[in-house]
Amino acid sequence: MGTHRVDRRDLLDFVRDDGLELLLLSCPDAVVVAGEGDSVILFSGSAEWLFRSDPPAVLGKSASDLFAPGEFDRIRRAVETEGAVRGMAVRGRRADGSEFPASVSAARLSDRYGGAAVAIFVRDRTAQEELERELSERNERLRGLVVRLNEAAQRDPLTGLLHRGAGLARAEEAFLEARAAERPFAVVLFDLDHFKGINDVYGHLVGDRALRRLANVIAEHTRRGDIVARFGGEEFILFLPAANREVAAAVAERVRTAVARLRLEVEGLHLAVTVSAGVASVPECAPTLLEAIHVADTRLLAAKRLGRNRVVAEDLEEGDQAA
Ligand code: GH3
Ligand code: MG
Ligand code: MG
Repeated sequence: MGTHRVDRRDLLDFVRDDGLELLLLSCPDAVVVAGEGDSVILFSGSAEWLFRSDPPAVLGKSASDLFAPGEFDRIRRAVETEGAVRGMAVRGRRADGSEFPASVSAARLSDRYGGAAVAIFVRDRTAQEELERELSERNERLRGLVVRLNEAAQRDPLTGLLHRGAGLARAEEAFLEARAAERPFAVVLFDLDHFKGINDVYGHLVGDRALRRLANVIAEHTRRGDIVARFGGEEFILFLPAANREVAAAVAERVRTAVARLRLEVEGLHLAVTVSAGVASVPECAPTLLEAIHVADTRLLAAKRLGRNRVVAEDLEEGDQAA
């Protein structure tokens, strides 16, 4: 983009006498020219409005009074080293002492007698700064919303636990860490007993309450680092990084007895629910996480076969019967 202007002679014709003043008057930016000793030698109409000051109060005084302490020095230094500055962010100061954010463009002027001056164009950035602040606040809120949405998308709305996919993804990560550290990694699969019966007799809302209670009981029995997820309808999965089969079986047993003690109040009745669990661990029972889940599932089925309300943490011989 080139600079377009009339021939220099014509320009001088235009700006002679009060022409320059008229030009500066129509400039939307405040124009201040500081001459010898930083004293203000020109103060435009926009400057009066921006600094809330009259030319008589400013002319001949130091231009540094128009800025927060140190700011004018900064402008002058920049002009001295660069020759001109554009869009420099500074704090302006009004006649009443209040400050405002400003953007400054400035250039060095010199006359034919070797005198030097600085021409400063000052633009108020208050509205822009407010807009920027509002924008960044909105962005901040939006980022928070995205984080919450992401979090919500990983959770099962009924129980608040992670859903299957999110649970497996986190477990896979924790499993790799455990394996790298040569620590065991255990899995427990829980399944409510005769849950279909609860739904059929008392309705799905009661069934939903039972699911939430079981979810809470499992969550209450976890430690930091454990991962709980709703695995399917009335099945829950618990991953225990660093736990071996014995530890996981003890946790599962505690969950089982806590569930068995629960009473669901339904129309004056106190319903008991029970849960069965299958336990497996890497490396004791399987070499990989997915295979451990499969083993836990097989043991869960064995727990069901053996009569429910129990934890199975080992491979049972064919013909094992309900206790
Ligand atoms: P078992 O002791 O062998 O596990 O028997 P069960 O009745 O618990 O097993 P089954 O798999 O036959 O039934 C599971 C039931 O879980 C069937 C389904 O209606 C119910 N279910 C699945 N998801 C939900 C849910 O979100 N809310 C409610 N209320 N019920 C659900
Ligand atoms: Mg069930
Ligand atoms: Mg089931």
